[in-house]
Amino acid sequence: MSEQTQSQGQAENTSALFPTYARFPITMVRGEGSKLWDDQGKEYIDFASGIAVTNLGHTPKRVRDRLVEQLDQLWHVSNLFHIPNQEALAGLLTANSFADAVFFCNSGAEANEAAIKIARRYNAKILGTNRYEVITFNSSFHGRTLATLTATGQDKVKEGFHPLPQGFVQAPYNDVEALQSYVNENTCAIMLEFVQGEGGVIPASPEFIQEVVRLCEEHNLLLIADEIQTGMGRTGKLFAYEHYNVEPDIMTLAKGLGSGFPIGAMLGKAKLREAFSAGSHGTTFGGTPIATAAGMATLEMMLEDKLADRAAEMGTYIQAKLNEKLGGNPLVRSVRGLGLLIGIDCTVPVAGLVSKMHEQGLIVISAGPNVIRLLPNFLVQVEEADQAVAIIGSVLAEHAAVAEGSVSK
Ligand SMILES: *Cc1c(COP(=O)(O)O)cnc(C)c1O
Repeated sequence: MSEQTQSQGQAENTSALFPTYARFPITMVRGEGSKLWDDQGKEYIDFASGIAVTNLGHTPKRVRDRLVEQLDQLWHVSNLFHIPNQEALAGLLTANSFADAVFFCNSGAEANEAAIKIARRYNAKILGTNRYEVITFNSSFHGRTLATLTATGQDKVKEGFHPLPQGFVQAPYNDVEALQSYVNENTCAIMLEFVQGEGGVIPASPEFIQEVVRLCEEHNLLLIADEIQTGMGRTGKLFAYEHYNVEPDIMTLAKGLGSGFPIGAMLGKAKLREAFSAGSHGTTFGGTPIATAAGMATLEMMLEDKLADRAAEMGTYIQAKLNEKLGGNPLVRSVRGLGLLIGIDCTVPVAGLVSKMHEQGLIVISAGPNVIRLLPNFLVQVEEADQAVAIIGSVLAEHAAVAEGSVSK
């Protein structure tokens, strides 16, 4: 695409797409490993991985080969029939997590919808209560359907969409003292991200998680872990709950589960199984043979090559390098995160800085107005990491110097 048609396509009212995204002025056409190339032939190091999606790098051969094999066999069969790939992926997921049963869908929001629905139905059908309220947290992100945007603790996703479904309340995140006061006779579940992703890369404190678990036990509430961003090795363990030595009752996955092929999953403990009896929930595309082939190849590669460990190692390496490079930069408040979910918390809005990094050949994204978010793939090479840190360091140093200059003038 020429630059002209590209910019015309992005101009207001000329694109045939709804303008739901503020897109960067870059058109990627090819990817391999940590590298991306745009339509001008420019090469980038990818430190966003979609948004925590291409965790094994772009076009990983093992997943690609499995997909091609499946493409030649069978693309789609309805959930009115048995789908062996679904059974296999569910078996692998349950063997490697707290969970005993899996429901497949196509996205994160759908996985969270399934989690909310099963939490309510478990209370109605199994426990025989009419409890329905789900406690979620300020600055959380759970998706864009009506229920999941209501669960989300950010007002901007709710604007103009009222009336919203009932049964959600937001509590302050990491506030051990306050949480108890949000539990009432209608509460059925507490839903959280162990590290808030979109909300600014904010890990839960261990004391906070202990309090969440204590309240769940005391009031027989379900703990729903939204691991859509943190799951599949991103934080240096296969699932982020493992860092906290606790077990949720329900977990949702999507982003990294299919290496870029759309797939979501809701996983639950055995006690929840009968809450989703035949006919109570469903989806046409969920767990299609192709999607679950992508999931199988992804998870097998993760497990066999111990890629969660590699994410932990590279996360430690990159965070240390960043601290070294950015220490003393007045624009940087802190570097934080878990594994390869890393945030650089800045004292200034980061949108301009993110674009500068793109110009220098590094793809990063933001998480909220002031945090630069880094989500490299788990096979990122040390030289690539060093190059990325160098770009981040120089863009931030340059901006700090400019800011300094404008203050002293
Ligand atoms: C991305 C994300 C979602 C929504 O997933 P979609 O696939 O965009 O619907 C939900 N929760 C968390 C934590 C996420 O990061």
